[in-house]
Amino acid sequence: MNSVFDFERPELAAQLTPSYRATQIFKGVYQRWVTRFEEITDLPKAERSRLQDEWTLEPPRTHRRFDSVDGTRRYLVGLEDDELAETVFIPEEHRNTICISSQVGCALACTFCLTGKIGLKRHLSAGEIVGQVVAAQRDNLSVARKDDFNIVLMGMGEPLHNYDNVMKAIRILHDPEGMNMSMSRFTLSTAGMLPAIERLATEPDIPNLAISLTGATNEKRDVLMPINKKYPIAQLLEAVRRFPLKHRQRVTFEYVLLKGVTDSLDDAKALVTLLKGMPAKVNLIPLNEAEELDYERPSDSAIDRFRRTLTENGIDAFVRKNRGNDISAACGQLFLRDIKQ
Ligand code: SAH
Repeated sequence: MNSVFDFERPELAAQLTPSYRATQIFKGVYQRWVTRFEEITDLPKAERSRLQDEWTLEPPRTHRRFDSVDGTRRYLVGLEDDELAETVFIPEEHRNTICISSQVGCALACTFCLTGKIGLKRHLSAGEIVGQVVAAQRDNLSVARKDDFNIVLMGMGEPLHNYDNVMKAIRILHDPEGMNMSMSRFTLSTAGMLPAIERLATEPDIPNLAISLTGATNEKRDVLMPINKKYPIAQLLEAVRRFPLKHRQRVTFEYVLLKGVTDSLDDAKALVTLLKGMPAKVNLIPLNEAEELDYERPSDSAIDRFRRTLTENGIDAFVRKNRGNDISAACGQLFLRDIKQ
């Protein structure tokens, strides 16, 4: 059985006659949320039952959903081989966010991130990435208000380590005859896979870029994010400087605040020196603590001092709220917790 979510519209068109069937199916699935060909009434009746035998239009099932007191929802999305992907829906007043995973686990082993403790189990397919968006969208929104969200590739995994499937998923979600998500509503976050950032820069359609920095010197970042040994800070920032940006578009830098490790005045000053003059903004993420991690969250006053040092030196900086902390849905907490319950 083929899943429709695995296919770009031109690929689907190549398999169907007449090829405009692909557009009819895309509209039905992504715009009207049909789950059976029977409901795509602009297809001839005989065609509907034939297609139903070969293709599924069903999004992946939710293995389990956790609801936070702040409205955030964490999903364990069931995959064909019984692995699970984690997806988070974060409601906000003006815009919701769907945070999706690109891999089961992650290979990069950042020392402050729980996903890194699992190691890489496998890449997700394009269809599994698209399916996460569709499942979270349908559970939280309605056909009438279906477009009220941004997509962040900030769940489990390193999206640029699964480049082809991630970019394919973005193209599927971006298709104007389908979900029609504009590129400005995607943010792809990377730990700094430099060659893939350079490749991303050459794409016809480019999502917003976020770089997880967490460490303003190679000495610190080598320890916290081992990928830095391969692609050190200076080269990484050089690639970011060359990255094509639209008018007023900026690159986001995520910086995890770890007590006594990355939260000092010197750290803040080093970060200012690195980012000075770049079209950048900084999202400070106070560590989401976990038993498995050897770090602590800084005090509120240390967090505020750090933020002020950046803003006073002309760098826009925001402290990210730890949404969904009570259900292990916050940054760095995706760890396939409680899968059996
Ligand atoms: N691998 C990609 C996508 C994951 S994004 C990347 O690293 O960018 C997840 C974000 O959460 C990253 O910015 C990461 O630095 C941050 N993070 C990881 N562990 C965290 C923790 N324990 N507390 C707060 N933020 C964390």
